[in-house]
Amino acid sequence: MEEQRRSVPFECRGCWHVWEEDYLVRSVDDRHGNEREVWVRSGVLVPPPSSAAVCPQCGGQQTTTFPEGYLARHPEARLAAQPPPTDETALLSPVRPRLL
Ligand SMILES: [Zn+2]
Repeated sequence: MEEQRRSVPFECRGCWHVWEEDYLVRSVDDRHGNEREVWVRSGVLVPPPSSAAVCPQCGGQQTTTFPEGYLARHPEARLAAQPPPTDETALLSPVRPRLL
C-alpha cells in the first residue's frame, strides 16, 4: 500500500476565498488487480475532493478545485488564504521527522 500526501487547492466562487486541504491518498489493490485510490483526511476516509467542497469562509457550495500545485505557482492566490489549522503529523507516518 502506498501513501502520498496531496494538497488540493480550492476556490470559492462566491467570495473568491482560496484555501488548501491536505489529503493522504492511499493506493490500494481491490483484489481484482485493479488499483484504486482511497482519500483520507485527518485520519478519516473521505470522498475524493471535488467541487462539492464547502467554503470555510462564507459557507458557499459553489467551489472549484485547482490542479495540484497551483498555489505553489501562484503565490498571490494564497494571500487571502488562512493558515492550515490541522496538524496531521501524528497521523501521517510512523517515521519520526528528522531533527535538524
Ligand atoms: Zn466563500
